[in-house]
This record gives sequence, structure tokens and C-alpha cells, in this order.
Amino acid sequence: MREIILADHAGFCFGVKRAVDGIAEALAQTRAGWSIGMPIHNPQEVARLCAKGLKIASDVEEIPEGARVFIRAHGEALSVFKELQAKNALIMDMTCPFVQRAQARAGELSAQGYHIVLLGDIRHPEIRSIQGHVDGSIDVVADAADAEKLPKKRLVALISQTTQREELLASVASALIFRTEELHVCNTVCRATVERQDAVRGLAGKVDGLVVIGGKESANTAKLRDIGLACGMDVIWIENISELDGGWLLGKDKIGAAAGASTPEWLITEVCTKIARM
Ligand code: SF4
Repeated sequence: MREIILADHAGFCFGVKRAVDGIAEALAQTRAGWSIGMPIHNPQEVARLCAKGLKIASDVEEIPEGARVFIRAHGEALSVFKELQAKNALIMDMTCPFVQRAQARAGELSAQGYHIVLLGDIRHPEIRSIQGHVDGSIDVVADAADAEKLPKKRLVALISQTTQREELLASVASALIFRTEELHVCNTVCRATVERQDAVRGLAGKVDGLVVIGGKESANTAKLRDIGLACGMDVIWIENISELDGGWLLGKDKIGAAAGASTPEWLITEVCTKIARM
């Protein structure tokens, strides 16, 4: 049998577990509820919740009057909360507290006159939710090169998407120092993200290949793949076992397994058990 070494930290983080358990508990009683977009970035786990009665709307318009609505772990803009209240929705806020912290810091510092620079993926719902808590000026940057192109401002506050790499946050902070008189840096990268990234680094040199398990929309899973590659590992990223090309396993006796913060334990176990036997 092939040896599988599971990363020290893998799968559901606190925020995702809280959201999934909260939604599942509510659905067990009501059999009905909505989410705007996927409540977490794992299609297999979301399918499990949909089988219990969860419906996914693409925007607020689709939500029926008075419906129960779960706010996803990535949060929503304040305007979305207002639109839902106008529809008399029964709101169950499943925003991760660490995302709420980033939203709150962005809103507070903006109110104090800081220009907000947000490090992250502009298409990601968490970035949109943080943007939606800021009344003043805001820019989103993906890296230090983006930050270097920003116009100079007197007061700048740098806030990170919770799933970014801390090294990247530090490099953006270094770039911004030259573009402002006063820079306020909030390290809003969450512990679960750092632990999962360090766990991947810990597998480097110990395995013949790394399987990263997680949703293709999951930002923190993408970072695990990037870190594995940066450490020189042969990496494959799959959502489930059907995506694994058996040819990739040839000649590999020891496989590392890592999983994003939105990957459920049952899926990790299924993938690891099957790889061991392939
Ligand atoms: S990765 Fe961190 S911020 Fe994101 S849901 Fe999990 S605990 Fe919350």
C-alpha cells in the first residue's frame, strides 16, 4: 500500500466549521434556507447542504420575501444586509469572525481618514464583503507591483484578505512605505491559513508528490498549491478522487496530502484511502 502523510493542519477551519454546522443545524429544523453564492468554497460539501434544503441564489434579487438567508463565511457588503432587511429576510449571519474583524478594521480606519489598501483577489467574495464595509477611498492590490503603481497618499491603511500569505503582506507593506507619510498595517491573515500553509512547507522533502484537496474556487487551497510548487514539490490539485490521474501516482510511494480550510474531513478521508490503494 502507498504511504500517505497528511499535513498537520488540513481541512475545515474554525470559520468554515461554524458556518457549515450552523447551516446544517438550521436546515435540520426548517428544511429551507438561502445563501447568496456558495456559503463555503467546496462544491461537494455545498451539495450535501443543498440535499438538506439549502438553495443558492446568484444575487439578492432572487431571494424570496421573508426567506431565511445564511450569510456566507466570506461575509457580505453592508448594502446586501440592508437589501435583505428590506425584504424582511430572516438573516443568519455565518460570516467568520476573522473576516468580520477585517471588515471592521477597514471600516474604522476609513472613517478615521485612512485610504484603505486591501491585499487580495479582487474577484473573491471576501474582498467584495470587506470593500462593502468601507465608505471612503479604497484600492485592491494583488501584490507589491500593484502597490507601487498607487498614487501617493498621506494616510494609508493596509488590510489583507484572510487567506493571503504573510510574506506577501510584508512585501506590499514595504512597497507602500514609500507611497505614504503614515502607514497602518493590519495583519488580518488568519491563523488557520498560516497553519495550513506551514503544514505544507513541513511536507517538503518528505514526500514524492503532494495532493492538494479542495474546491477550485477556494483561495486558501490555491495558496497551498502555490506553496507546494514553491517548495519544489510535484503537486496535483483535485476536488475529489475522480479527478486524480492514476498516471501521476506512478513511481510515487510516499504521497503528502494537504487540504484547504473548506474541505470536509469525509472528503479528505475518501481521497487518502483511495490513493493508498491505487
Ligand atoms: S480561513 Fe480563517 S478567516 Fe477564513 S473562514 Fe477559516 S478561520 Fe475564518
